[in-house]
Amino acid sequence: MTFRSSQTVSTIIEQSPSLKHDDIGADRNMTDDILDTTYTKKVDPKPPIKIVWRNVILMCLLHIGAFYGLFFIPAAKPITLAWATVCFMLSALGVTAGAHRLWSHRSYKAKLPLRIFLAVVNSMAFQNDIYEWARDHRVHHKFSETDADPHNATRGFFFSHIGWLLIRKHPDVIEKGKKLDLSDLKADKVVMFQRRNYKLSILVMCFILPTVIPWYFWNESFSVAFYVPCLLRYALVLNATWLVNSAAHMYGNQPYDKTINPRENPLVAIGAIGEGFHNYHHTFPFDYSSSEFGLKFNITTGFIDLMCLLGLASNCKRVSKETIMARKMRTGDGSHRSG
Ligand SMILES: [Zn+2]
Ligand SMILES: [Zn+2]
Repeated sequence: MTFRSSQTVSTIIEQSPSLKHDDIGADRNMTDDILDTTYTKKVDPKPPIKIVWRNVILMCLLHIGAFYGLFFIPAAKPITLAWATVCFMLSALGVTAGAHRLWSHRSYKAKLPLRIFLAVVNSMAFQNDIYEWARDHRVHHKFSETDADPHNATRGFFFSHIGWLLIRKHPDVIEKGKKLDLSDLKADKVVMFQRRNYKLSILVMCFILPTVIPWYFWNESFSVAFYVPCLLRYALVLNATWLVNSAAHMYGNQPYDKTINPRENPLVAIGAIGEGFHNYHHTFPFDYSSSEFGLKFNITTGFIDLMCLLGLASNCKRVSKETIMARKMRTGDGSHRSG
């Protein structure tokens, strides 16, 4: 499928022989998602942990509500379960194809209608606005597994999964985050419009729409509509996303770079519609597929491919097989040979 590889890394390298593989981010007018190994941990003492009780209470309520929602599933109409699935997919795409692959990594280009769509469904996922999500994510890549990484996985599974949202950020995250080049995000009117209207947009997209549609259009009970497509779906998308930060930084092979923590985790890839190939992704963050394997367990890649076919997306960055193989031989753990 030629439309998927409109400009491969090898093409760029051929055109610019002086460009090294790991500098390829320059082609996207941003490089702040490339690992910066010059930063090292500051010495102790560690700053005190300040719990954000508002977030603790809200997250407890959400997860209790989502668990309660499981018991409403048998009573739900099939069309409501289908709607909940649609809401799950849309909100997940808002994060994976939107906040992540488009806005954090600039791994492809999207026309205005697609950017508007992705911003709208991103609000359905309610994971902070695109600007903040992309800033946190770039600093996660640039200073991965250090104090400047917002969900530093060396602090354990719980911290990297949800704990990081329940306490104040480490000062290094704020300090390093301020130094990132976010000019591309500031220049994107869609991103800034969503940021200005974020509260209203999450109220409508994450809570009102998922609940009211089944209740109004096919007479679903209000409780089922609120607990299943709204709360349960929201909690599932959150946890699927968080597993990329926790499980995919701990469990799995490192075929591309054994010197970094992120791992290849197919189970996470299934839950997070394509985002579990995390050793690959941290090695080549500019690849629009976030994986060596294109469409395998990767609905997000299928979605971006479809958008390319429709003319709404273009310029998908892909890494050549030769570059991948060279990297595997140079820094991989050898696991690709057995699988
Ligand atoms: Zn990561
Ligand atoms: Zn990323």
